[in-house]
Amino acid sequence: MKICIVGGGNLGTAMAVDFAAKNHTVNVLTSRPQDWQRKIFASITTSGEPAQEFSADLNLVTSDAAAAFDSTDYIFVTLPSHVQAAFAEKVAPFVNYKTKLVMIPGFGGAEFLLQPLLKRGAKLFGFTRVPYIARLKQYGKSVWFERKPSISLAAFRGKDTTSVVRDMEKLFTVPCAATDNYLSITLTPSNPVLHTSRLYAMFGQSDSAFERNELFYAAWNDKASEILFKLDDEVQAICRALPEVDLSDVISLKIHYESDTIPALTKKLRSISSLSKILSPMKQAADGWRPDFDNRYFKCDFEFGLDILLQFAETLKLPSPTMNEVMTWYRHKTGNFMRAVKLSDYGINSAEDIYKFYGGANSMQKTLVLIKPDAFGKGHAGAILKIYEDAGFKILAAKVMRMTPELAAKHYVEHIGRPYYPALVDFMTSAPIMALVLCGDDVIKKVRELNGATNPAEAADGTIRKLYAEDKTKNAVHASDSETSAAREILIFFGAYEIFD
Ligand code: ADP
Ligand code: MG
Repeated sequence: MKICIVGGGNLGTAMAVDFAAKNHTVNVLTSRPQDWQRKIFASITTSGEPAQEFSADLNLVTSDAAAAFDSTDYIFVTLPSHVQAAFAEKVAPFVNYKTKLVMIPGFGGAEFLLQPLLKRGAKLFGFTRVPYIARLKQYGKSVWFERKPSISLAAFRGKDTTSVVRDMEKLFTVPCAATDNYLSITLTPSNPVLHTSRLYAMFGQSDSAFERNELFYAAWNDKASEILFKLDDEVQAICRALPEVDLSDVISLKIHYESDTIPALTKKLRSISSLSKILSPMKQAADGWRPDFDNRYFKCDFEFGLDILLQFAETLKLPSPTMNEVMTWYRHKTGNFMRAVKLSDYGINSAEDIYKFYGGANSMQKTLVLIKPDAFGKGHAGAILKIYEDAGFKILAAKVMRMTPELAAKHYVEHIGRPYYPALVDFMTSAPIMALVLCGDDVIKKVRELNGATNPAEAADGTIRKLYAEDKTKNAVHASDSETSAAREILIFFGAYEIFD
């Protein structure tokens, strides 16, 4: 497979070397390509066994998204939430309906932050949890990681996951499960509740500096477990308030960590050996160690992860005192009272809206195209389809047919009575045409730009009419000129069952 990995942190580097070692072609998109070497060294541990060392060569390390994305099967995005919106804006021109984005991990608001890419037809998949525990040894050069025994993912808006699951098993070489709805990913009680509860327990009680940087998991305490259980309960309440989505995969932490009391959870989190060396997001100050609010544990897991959960609770009018308490502490501590993601900006104000947002079908704009008798008869259909496909538009329906005068009257209803109308109908019914439904971002306007001016003498160079039209009547193609006419015209030529969106 040809893979692009976005982000050169712990997980990105581990995936890059893991996939490259399995002979996949790996491109890395990073802002710091100059700090990378082509050969990456890895050390992988499997619990209880000595570390295995290996290395593998990357295909390309670049800051150029066009080059990094070029004909890749999957784009893995490991960027933290707080940079995802800027990323989406920057790379949108290089994304279309063929793009498969895989978020590692999938929670933290990707389904909102990456909307510019989804509007262009990209498909979004998210991992429930991270596939490894990974730590860089040296940036751009070497990494240590340990595989999780299994992975699971969901597609945003019910895209078929069968082939993606198969590909993920090939890439990660562990079993992969698929969960029904992306909402399960967003509600997974992972970092957004795990990191926030520990940090609030650590820094929320007192303002004094710490003598050292505390171990994050190995020094986990009962206060953190108590908050974590409360947050976990509030997440489970959100799931219960959304009975129309199957959220049975959102497993309570009590079950996930097989611990149903506070001391049992503390003991469990302290004893996970692969997490034992992880430190807390702290930095050294004059008087000792203090929280590093720029760290992604704060920026992502509070501002995105937990605040999005809190907004689900608010939308569903559920009491969520602990989420509120923890978020309020963070906001006062950082002075940041702005919501990074506002669900209402995405039309989410009720349970119904949540179902709609996560269950919605393809909402991309559609247009009707006719390849007229002249261009179709001369065998230009293939070339014309290629122009549309190369521009990133997807063919949802296509048929070869002959227009009847009745059909022409329906389609060209606005032109009845015009001096050119009889000639237009004669021409359109003279030989077969090809009718198409295309979809994509801004497809109505853009297809008309690709077609060029009605009169080929005035059509711009490179447009379809400049290339293939003969005159004002025999002008090669038709395309709808507005959303209203697209909706009307599509139904003249196609039944809903013939449109594959
Ligand atoms: P477009 O196809 O670019 O949307 P119109 O909707 O104005 O253009 O016209 C519909 C079709 O009628 C044109 O594509 C062309 O085939 C025909 N037509 C329009 N104007 C003329 C004209 N002045 N002379 C001959 N044919 C015309
Ligand atoms: Mg028109």
